[in-house]
Amino acid sequence: MSSYNWCHNPDCHTIETQSRVRGTGDNKVLRTRKIPLTSEYIRNSIYAYFCNQNCLHSFLNKFAREVANIRAVRQPSETPIKIEKTKEESYRYRHNDTGNYQRVPYMATRTTIINKNSS
Ligand SMILES: [Zn+2]
Repeated sequence: MSSYNWCHNPDCHTIETQSRVRGTGDNKVLRTRKIPLTSEYIRNSIYAYFCNQNCLHSFLNKFAREVANIRAVRQPSETPIKIEKTKEESYRYRHNDTGNYQRVPYMATRTTIINKNSS
């Protein structure tokens, strides 16, 4: 297994930061950043392939259609759930003639998802 990846943003090497400057004398270049895969956290994350959020989002903006077509979504998915509705007292704040707000109680309905995938 390789111990590093190169950032996958095709424009990484055009971003002007000190961390990308390589070369000697008059032969300086901006180089794609190397990502050391030193921790399991990095190896298992998207940042194993992108040196930072800016490069990740640049890549996603440039290749959004291709990324979406890797696993096209043509209809919504659904997860079966059970819900519980409860009534509870809540408050609205109503602006009044004096320029202040008045606290007005009302009975609100709270919807709580009590479980998923049970049947
Ligand atoms: Zn990068």
